[in-house]
Amino acid sequence: MAGKTQDKWYAAGLAFECQQSGNCCSGAPGYVWVTKAEQTAIAEFLGMKDGKLGKRYIRRVGLRVSLKERPGGDCIFLERDGNGCTTCRIHKVKPTQCRTWPFWDYNLKSPEHWNNAADGCPGINRGKLHTFVQIETQRLTHPPK
Ligand code: SF4
Repeated sequence: MAGKTQDKWYAAGLAFECQQSGNCCSGAPGYVWVTKAEQTAIAEFLGMKDGKLGKRYIRRVGLRVSLKERPGGDCIFLERDGNGCTTCRIHKVKPTQCRTWPFWDYNLKSPEHWNNAADGCPGINRGKLHTFVQIETQRLTHPPK
């Protein structure tokens, strides 16, 4: 585990519990990076016979592959119920980038970065307390780009 616990401002843990706002899956244009293995897992989950996610779901960006967005910025897999709640159609196999939100290097740089992220995510600073070890495990799973 990189860094000593006492060196990190979040050594006592941080609260986060998804409120299904969908804010981290929509909004300004962005990228949801998917590895080859993640693409295969999603394709299998969706029951695609050839085990491949086609152009309907993914796009090439340089050497990498991202999930597509709908017009307006929603991720192609974001579903809205009409009452303000959202779900991820591929929740069980969603990419690492999604699974590790909000415990990304950038958000954990400082309390200010964390609270800036909280401005757009109602789940941050709310609900379940994640321990330092749990946070670091997720942060290190999602290395900086
Ligand atoms: S794959 Fe699921 S969790 Fe990830 S951005 Fe799309 S809707 Fe959100």
